[in-house]
Amino acid sequence: MSAVENAVLLCQSCGEETDHRLAYAGRLLVVTECRHCGHTIVRDVRARYLADLKQRVATKPVRMLRRFVRHPVGFTSSLPRTTMRKPSELLDEVRLVWGSRRA
Ligand SMILES: [Zn+2]
Repeated sequence: MSAVENAVLLCQSCGEETDHRLAYAGRLLVVTECRHCGHTIVRDVRARYLADLKQRVATKPVRMLRRFVRHPVGFTSSLPRTTMRKPSELLDEVRLVWGSRRA
């Protein structure tokens, strides 16, 4: 999943504690952007992303089973929605990891 989170961090460019936008591809932090001055740090995580994705795919059935056992109704009712979103989430991750290198 490509996810964006916000956090207050010390910006190395403007020297202030400001809101930052953090963009993740799966479990990997790819982009950090200061919302005050726009200073952006892009990490090249391509090799690590492929290893992480491979591990996530390999463990997906076990994680799904674990979620089903813990919350059968919630898991079952959310399955159609989450299944439909997966391809676009994966595409967003790939765009973030490879597209951010051109920025
Ligand atoms: Zn800044």
